[in-house]
Amino acid sequence: QAKEDGKNQYKIYTASMEQMAMKTFTLRNDLRKALQNEEFSIHYQPRIDVNSNDIIGAEALLRWKHPEFGFISPTEFIPLAEETGLIIPISNWVLEEVCNHHRQWIQSGMNKIKVSVNFSALQFLQKDLLQTIINIFTRTKMDPNLIEIEITESVVMEHKDTVLATIEKMKAMGIQIAIDDFGTGYSSISYLKKFKIDTLKIDRSFIKAIPSDVDSVELTNATIQLAQSLGLAIVGEGVETLEQLITLKDSGCQEVQGFLFSKPVPEKDFKIMLNNKVCLPQT
Ligand code: C2E
Ligand code: MG
Ligand code: MG
Ligand code: MG
Repeated sequence: QAKEDGKNQYKIYTASMEQMAMKTFTLRNDLRKALQNEEFSIHYQPRIDVNSNDIIGAEALLRWKHPEFGFISPTEFIPLAEETGLIIPISNWVLEEVCNHHRQWIQSGMNKIKVSVNFSALQFLQKDLLQTIINIFTRTKMDPNLIEIEITESVVMEHKDTVLATIEKMKAMGIQIAIDDFGTGYSSISYLKKFKIDTLKIDRSFIKAIPSDVDSVELTNATIQLAQSLGLAIVGEGVETLEQLITLKDSGCQEVQGFLFSKPVPEKDFKIMLNNKVCLPQT
C-alpha cells in the first residue's frame, strides 16, 4: 500500500514538474514578443511619509499580461528575462515609460514627486548604461534629481567595482540610489558609506514579522539607527497592518510602502491618488 502511494505521488510530482517546465519554456519564448505586442505595463505603488500621510513618491513595478496565462508575476518572468538577455530592452522600455509618466505628473502640478525604478544586475554590466540613461532622460525631459534607482544588496556585493564606478557617475548626474530588500544580503556599513547610498528599503520579510518576532524588531530598529547615523532615508516595505505602521513610526522610520496604504496600481489610478495628495491607511 505504502509503496503504491509512493508511486502515485511520484507520478503526480513528475507531471506537475513537466507542466511547470513547459510553462517556463513557453514564457521564456513568449517573452521575446511581449514588448512588440505591448503586453507590458507599469504599476505604481505610492511611497508615504508616515507623519503626514503625504504621497512623496512611487515605485514603478513592471507587469506582464500574457495572452494565455494572464498576469505573470515579475518574480517569475524577470529571471527569465535575465537568462535570455531580454532584460536589457525591457528595462530600457520601463525607464522610458516611467520617465514619460513622470513628466505628465509634473505637468499636472506634482512638483517634488519622486519615482523609483528597479534595476537588474545585468544592466550594470552594460558598457553603454549611462549613455542609454542620458538619452532616455533627454528624450523625456526627466529631471535626474527626481528618480531613484533601486538595486539589491547582492547586485552591489557581487559586482563591486563595476557597480561602484557606475553608481558614482549616476550620483554625479543627481540620480538617487536605494538598496532594495535590505537585510537579506550582506552589504557592509563601509560599503553603504563608500557608495553614498541615499535610501535603505527594509525587506518585507522583516516588516511582516513585527512586532511579534523579537529578532525582526531588533533588526528593523538597528537598520533604522544605522540609516539615521549615515543620514540615509529609510523605507519600510510591505506594511500591511496598522500595528506594523505604528511600530515603524515609533522606531523613527519616516517612509513606508505597503498594502495598508495601497497595492501597486495602474498609472491612471495612481494619477487619481496623486491628485488627492494624501493616502490614508485602509483599515
Ligand atoms: P521589489 O522591488 O522588492 O518590490 C516590492 C514588491 O513587494 C512588489 O512585488 C510589491 O507589489 C510587493 N508589495 C508591496 N507592498 C506589499 C505588501 O504590503 N504586502 C505584500 N505581500 N507585498 C507587497 P511585485 O510587483 O510582484 O515585484 C516583485 C519583484 O520583481 C520586485 O521586488 C523587483 O525585484 C522585481 N521587479 C518588479 N518590477 C521590476 C522592473 O521593472 N525591473 C526589474 N529589474 N525588477 C522588477
Ligand atoms: Mg524595489
Ligand atoms: Mg523590495
Ligand atoms: Mg524584491
